[in-house]
Amino acid sequence: MDVILEALDMKTGYTAAGGGSWIPCRGDELESVSPIDGRVIGRVRKATRKEYEQVVDQAATAFHHWRMVPAPVRGDIVRQIGDAMRRRKSELGALVSLENGKILAEGEGEVQEMIDMADFAVGQSRMLYGLSMHSERPGHRMYEQWHPLGPVGVITAFNFPVAVWSWNAMIGLICGDTLIWKPSSKTFLTALALLKIAWQIFRDNDLPEGILSVVIGDREDVGGALIDDSRIPLISATGSTAMGQHVGKRVAARLGRSILELGGNNAVIVTPKADLDLAVRAILFGAVGTAGQRCTSTRRVIAHRDVFDRLAQALIQAYRQVPIGDPLVDGTLMGPLIDRQAVDTMQLAIQQITSEGGTILWGGRVLAGGLYDTGTYVSPCIADVRPDMPIVARETFAPILYLMRYDTIAAAIDINNQVPQGLTSAIFTTDLREAEQFLSHAGSDHGIANVNLGTSGAEIGGAFGGEKETGGGREAGSDVWKTYMRRQTATINWSGQLPLAQGIRFDVKI
Ligand code: NAD
Repeated sequence: MDVILEALDMKTGYTAAGGGSWIPCRGDELESVSPIDGRVIGRVRKATRKEYEQVVDQAATAFHHWRMVPAPVRGDIVRQIGDAMRRRKSELGALVSLENGKILAEGEGEVQEMIDMADFAVGQSRMLYGLSMHSERPGHRMYEQWHPLGPVGVITAFNFPVAVWSWNAMIGLICGDTLIWKPSSKTFLTALALLKIAWQIFRDNDLPEGILSVVIGDREDVGGALIDDSRIPLISATGSTAMGQHVGKRVAARLGRSILELGGNNAVIVTPKADLDLAVRAILFGAVGTAGQRCTSTRRVIAHRDVFDRLAQALIQAYRQVPIGDPLVDGTLMGPLIDRQAVDTMQLAIQQITSEGGTILWGGRVLAGGLYDTGTYVSPCIADVRPDMPIVARETFAPILYLMRYDTIAAAIDINNQVPQGLTSAIFTTDLREAEQFLSHAGSDHGIANVNLGTSGAEIGGAFGGEKETGGGREAGSDVWKTYMRRQTATINWSGQLPLAQGIRFDVKI
C-alpha cells in the first residue's frame, strides 16, 4: 500500500476539492477503505457548500478562457494528459486495485481505457464537423456549427473510478468544456491522484486553474448542489437506476441536459448452434470478472433447453477453478466486493432466489479465514431460475449468474428484452439467421448487442450506453462529442435583398 501511494505522491497533501490546487475543506472526515484488507488508505475532510461554490466559480471563469483555445490545441493538451497517464499506468492501475478491489490486470485495463480515450479525443479534436445546407433563399449560405457548452458536472460510480471520468473528461476537454467531477465517496483517492497528474499539464502550459476540477462531499451539499446548478448546462451521471431517476428529474426540472448511464441486467443467449467453449469463457469473464461489479456484467444466461445441462456443468467446472483473493497478487482472478454492504445485498438476493423457487447450483458463500475475514470476499454464484421470477428483473450488483431455459429463438429474445434495464446483450451462435434475428429491429432492445462475444469489455470507439432504465445516455466514441457541445444554425445573407423563407412577403415602403 505504502509503495503505491508513495509512487503517486498520494500519502498526504490533498483535499476534497480543487481545480488546479487544493482548496482546504471544512466538512466531516471521509475515509477511503481498501476492500482487500479493510485498511484505511486515504482521508479527506469533505467539501461544504462554500468550497463547492469556489470550485464552480473557478470552473465557470476558466470556461471563458478554455472555450477560446482552438480545438486542435485543446487536443494537444489532452495528448499530453494521455501521455502523462501512460507513464503512470502501473501505479494508477495498482491504486485502482487497492481502492476498488478489482484485479491488477483490470485496474491497469481501466487506465489503458483512459489512455485510449485520450488518443481518440486528440483525433476527434480536428473533426468537430458541422454540416452545411443549401439555403432556399438566393445569395444565402446556411451552416451548422458546434460551440463549447460550458462547465459539465460528472458524477461517477465506484466500480470504474478512472474510465468513466475519462469518457467524459477527454471528450469534454476537446469540446472546450470545463469539467467538475464528483467521484464516488468509496473510490475518491483514485480521482484525486488522476487530477493531480492532469493539473501539472495545465500548469506546464500556462493554462488557468478550473479546467478540470473535483469536489467530494455530502449527497445534498455537493451532489444536490451540482444537479440543481443552472451554471452547469450538462450533468453526466453514472450509477444506479435509483440515482439516475433522482438526478434525471432534478436536472430536467431546470431544463438542463443529462447523460444518464445506469444499471444493467445483461444477458447472453446460448443457442444449440453455439460454440460452447467460447460461450463458457465469455460468460465466465462477464459474470466473475470485476467480481460481478460491472454495469455490463453478465447476469443472465438464456440457454436452449438442449444445451442447458452441458452449459451449466461446464460453467460450474470453470467456477471451481477461479482463484479468489488479493487482487494485487498475480494469478488472482476475483477480488473482494467493494464493502460488506455489497456482500449483505448479495446474501439477501440469494435468499430471495430460493424463496422464489430458484436453485443455487454453485457458490454464493461468504468466505472466511485469513484475508477473507474482512467479510468482503464471496464465492461467485450460479443459480437455476425461471425468467418470470421477480429477482431476475433486478440488478443485484454482485457475482450472481441466473441460468434460464428457452425453446425458440423468438422466446429467447423476449426473455432478453423482458427486464426493465437495457444495457448489453449477446448471442452465441454460428447460425447466421439466429444472429441476424437477434440484431434486427425485432431483436435485442439493448444499447449494445454482440455476436459470439460476451457482454462486458466494450471498446471505446463505439458509443457506450443503454436503453430503458439504463437511462438512454451515450458516452465515449462515435459521435458522442455532440452531446458536449452547443449546436448553432447560422445563415448568412450576402445578396443585398431580404427574401423571407417560405416565400412570405412583408414589405412596407420605407
Ligand atoms: P450509486 O448510484 O450508489 O452512486 C453513483 C454516484 O452517484 C456516486 O458518485 C454517488 O455519490 C452519486 N449519487 C448517488 N445519489 C446521488 C444524489 N441523490 N445526487 C447526486 N449524486 C448522487 O452507484 P454505485 O454503487 O457507485 O455504482 C454501481 C451502479 O452503477 C450499478 O447500478 C451499475 O450498473 C451502475 N453503473 C453504470 C454504468 C453505465 O455506464 N451504465 C457504469 C458504471 C456503473
